[in-house]
Amino acid sequence: MIRMHSYKIELKINNSQKALCAKSAGISRYAYNWELDKLIREYEANKSLAIMYDLPKIPCTLGNAQDWHKEWVLLKNEFPWIREVSKCCGQESLRDLEYAFKQFFTKKSDYPKFKKKGNKDSFRLTGSIYIASNYAQLPILGKIRLKEKNYPIQEGKLKLSQATVSRQADRWFVSFLIKEDIEAPELAPISEIETNDILGVDLGIKELAITSEGEAFNNPKAYKSHLKKLQRYQRMVSRRVKGSTNRKKAITRLSRVHKKVADIRNDAVHKLASSLVKAKPKVIVIETLKPKNMSKNHKLASSILDSSFGKIRDTLKYKCSWAGIHLIMAPTFYASSRYCSVCGHKHNELKLSDREWTCSNCGVHHDRDVNAAKNLQYYALWLMDKHLRETATRLSSSQSYACGDERLQFLTEQCSSMKQEFNAMYTII
Ligand SMILES: [Zn+2]
Repeated sequence: MIRMHSYKIELKINNSQKALCAKSAGISRYAYNWELDKLIREYEANKSLAIMYDLPKIPCTLGNAQDWHKEWVLLKNEFPWIREVSKCCGQESLRDLEYAFKQFFTKKSDYPKFKKKGNKDSFRLTGSIYIASNYAQLPILGKIRLKEKNYPIQEGKLKLSQATVSRQADRWFVSFLIKEDIEAPELAPISEIETNDILGVDLGIKELAITSEGEAFNNPKAYKSHLKKLQRYQRMVSRRVKGSTNRKKAITRLSRVHKKVADIRNDAVHKLASSLVKAKPKVIVIETLKPKNMSKNHKLASSILDSSFGKIRDTLKYKCSWAGIHLIMAPTFYASSRYCSVCGHKHNELKLSDREWTCSNCGVHHDRDVNAAKNLQYYALWLMDKHLRETATRLSSSQSYACGDERLQFLTEQCSSMKQEFNAMYTII
């Protein structure tokens, strides 16, 4: 299997290189917005046509990145300054735009938006790109020293197919992928997995995560703790005159704090995922959370953003695949908090503010999150058992986990109408 390492290294950049980077990012953004503007008009016109003639589908012929690039090349005669940066800037931007429209047409994301200056300024380069221990060699920009030395390449230089240069606050970074061909780790056969091999992980707000073994991972709450500072700096930005040097300075100060918040968050997520994988469970179970949907609840929104659920899920996905761990995602409707993990009794009265509760059926006192993590563990057992029964690879029924286990009864009730196939829920990478 191919293992991808992604790197993001700060560039030690001089002023002329800085200006060229800013210009490249600017032209990338221009190409994107210029084409998007045309496409939006075309799309809206088609949409009106569809409404006027009551067509079942919008007759869309927006073309693709290649078509758009032909127009972009012609634009270079009109605006020669486009030639001052690498030709990749426009080309790659239009590819991104094509992807954005594809996502929109397949209903995976919203309508493509215009890019704003100062917001994720970046450009992608292809062609002759090399990375060495202490410098990156990029088209047009030439050799640029790296702030972190001897990382990740020890000797010589490595050719890359592409690299992205981006700005965060007032610093510039180069990011790229290095492919490594490794032997795919073996996944444990499902029939050999026992309860102890399964780690349920409840993602939380108070704590970043709690495992079925009761281990808690601290949530640094970077956003919350920097909120006052962010608000103060935001106010400073709004008070300054648009286009002024002071406003620019204030924006830089604000974006530095934003970067710090993001760094703290990412660090916590990586530590959590590494720690879970290091314990070498055969299976890890988490909930399928849709951060976008959940953030709609305003009371919860900033807390949830602070726990970066989506990022945890993505990080676990690749770390598990490298370590040969099955990763199971319990469906969103699986109310893991509401059931007693000892007897399966449903505790309907559970409020979000209840951190602990006592089961009225068996009398066991639960920590809300540990109980939820244990229920996730049972979910994995139930799902694997279901799979084994369906594929009839289990030799005798006495090996079955689910039969007769009261704790799993509620799962059978709750998930019997589940339409998803096992493989869709079960990430075998
Ligand atoms: Zn109970």
